[in-house]
This record gives sequence, structure tokens and C-alpha cells, in this order.
Amino acid sequence: MKQPKALVLFSGGLDSRLVIKILQEQNIELEAVFIKLPFGEGCCNNTACIFNYSQVQGIKLHIIDATKEPLFSEYLEMIKKPKHGYGVSLNPCKDCKVFILKKAKELGEKINADFLATGEVLAQRPNSQYKSHLMLIERKADLVGKILRPLSAKLLPETIAEKNHLVEREKLLSIQGRQRKKQLELAKKYKIKYPAPAGGCLLCEKEYCRKLKDILATDGLKYEDILLLGVGRHFRSKETNNKIIIGKNENENKELELINQNIKYNILVPKKVPGPTVIFKDEKDKELAEELLNAYSSKDKSLVKKFQVMRI
Ligand code: SF4
Repeated sequence: MKQPKALVLFSGGLDSRLVIKILQEQNIELEAVFIKLPFGEGCCNNTACIFNYSQVQGIKLHIIDATKEPLFSEYLEMIKKPKHGYGVSLNPCKDCKVFILKKAKELGEKINADFLATGEVLAQRPNSQYKSHLMLIERKADLVGKILRPLSAKLLPETIAEKNHLVEREKLLSIQGRQRKKQLELAKKYKIKYPAPAGGCLLCEKEYCRKLKDILATDGLKYEDILLLGVGRHFRSKETNNKIIIGKNENENKELELINQNIKYNILVPKKVPGPTVIFKDEKDKELAEELLNAYSSKDKSLVKKFQVMRI
């Protein structure tokens, strides 16, 4: 019989690392896919670390980069009008999962995978991992019965791979909930090293999403515009309605300069006296940008007050 083949959706976190081990024990040929999302995944976002693990396990790793076009625009459109609504902030988790699974499905078909496997754990996350959510997401991604979730499989309907005996259901697990006890035991058993969870998904952060909402309607957004949201003080000109961003400290000044190497907006970098780096897109805002730079370089803190009404 031909060796079964699966495509593992690999975030780099412990759960998807365990999935690789569990399926390898069942002699399933594996390839993995890491889907890089513009706002983070709530897990490991370190591609080098992800690459290392897949290499050590002898698995081919594919990277689908949704921070680049055309996927970036597709992802932004999904955030603007999610069919299944938002979670605590601007996080359209169900639609986001459908997006991820559809991309994985296309790849799975290309590499002739018999099924997809994910590290999802039943009821681990409130907005997308209850049983009804998992089933809805499967339907919307046109993958009913084709996603194996080895960590919770025994609590979920039998998948096609299990029915066809490509995978032994008995050897799969029945983990549910947010507790990580069982996963930590398994990490010890398999001697898996794993990264501490990274910053999480920015779409769940209210303060960040306030700034994101402000630019979401702008045409032609680039990934760098998203990166800029996490850096500096943001102002909007009352006259031109354009944005001006100003670094809060030396690290942010450097970060702004770095991001700007790719987008090439207008930039002011004070050379003679210490002061903030300022980025602005439109030449029309040069005067205001210079005023901001002078105010934020001055020791007289009262100078910045008049700009507070423009603050986003
Ligand atoms: S938290 Fe939700 S929106 Fe963010 S990456 Fe996860 S599923 Fe997507």
C-alpha cells in the first residue's frame, strides 16, 4: 500500500511540533507549510526556528507569505468585511482560519497530500476552536472530513483519513481546553524543544486596532504601513488628512529608518541635535513634519501640546 501523505499546517509552536511527531510515529509521509500572516499568528513567528525544526525532522517546509502581494491585499479585504464577524477586537478568527486552510488546501492538492493536519486543540481558543467553529470553518474551506487534528481527534468526527485507515484513530489524542499539561508531558516524551509563545496576533489588541482602523480604508496599503503602526507617535494632518509618524526613542527612530528603506516615504532625520525621526508620505506635509520634529526635539515640553488634537 502507498505510504499516506499529509500536509501539516505548521506554526512553529509546540502543538504543531507534536503533530509532526505523532504522525511520524504512524509512518505518514509529511510536508509542512508555514503561513506567514501580516499581523502574527499568536505562536512562533521566527521563520529560522521553524525552518530548523522541519529540517531536523527531515520534512520539507513550504512558506506561504501573506505579507506579500497578492495574498496581502486578499487578507486585508477579509479583515475589512469578515463573513463571520470579529472577536474581541478586529480579529476575524473564523474567516482567517478559512483563509489559511484554503491556501493550505491548494498546496495540499499540488503535492498530492491525502489530508491536512493541524495542531488545533478543541476549545483552546474561544473564537475559532469550539467544535461548531471547527466544523463551520471546514465547510467554508471546502475541506469537510479532510482535516485531521491529531491532538483532539478522538473528540471530533472521524475524518476520511481515519475511515480509510490511513491513520490509526486509536493512537490519536483527546486533548481539549486551554490547559497545556498534556502537551507539556508529550514535549518531554518526544524531547521536543519549543519556543515560548511570541507576541500573539495584533488583531486582538484594541490599542493597535484603533490605529489599524484609521488606515484600513486607505487604498494601496503596503505591509510596511502595517509595520509602521507598531512604531512611534501617529498624527493626522487636519489640512491634508495625511499621516505623520514620529519616533519615541532611539530604537524607534532606527526602526522607522529601517522600515522606510523599503517604502521610501519622506523622512527627516535630525543630524545636528538629538531628536526624533519623522516619516510622512506626502511632500505637502513637510512643514508640519518639521514643526513636529522641532517640538519633540525641544526641552520645552509645552510645545507638543498643540499637536495633541492631531494624535491618532
Ligand atoms: S488570532 Fe484569529 S485573526 Fe489572529 S491569526 Fe489567529 S485566527 Fe487569525
